[in-house]
Amino acid sequence: MPGPARGNVAIDLEECKGCGLCVESCPPKCLELAPELNHYGVHGARYTGHDCTGCGICFYCCPEPGALTVYRLLPPPKAVVAAQGGEHAPAL
Ligand code: SF4
Ligand code: SF4
Repeated sequence: MPGPARGNVAIDLEECKGCGLCVESCPPKCLELAPELNHYGVHGARYTGHDCTGCGICFYCCPEPGALTVYRLLPPPKAVVAAQGGEHAPAL
């Protein structure tokens, strides 16, 4: 079962040139090319909305400055992790 998302990606479709390097480089395959055309007349990349780990590989592959931003999400608070059974609460 996949855990909570650890990353998020924002792609500026008006900066993206649709080269597809980010799509090919993403290990969990959570990026895709959009079916619609942007103002360059190409299919820009977009985030599928799940499974991003925040690894940043797509960011380093993208040749267009400002087209792609990766966010690393904060882990859930310890109390939430314990309540989900992900970690043992201390025995008192
Ligand atoms: S940060 Fe990593 S996991 Fe997230 S979209 Fe980019 S390559 Fe994929
Ligand atoms: S690598 Fe950059 S320019 Fe190429 S498709 Fe991805 S976001 Fe667009």
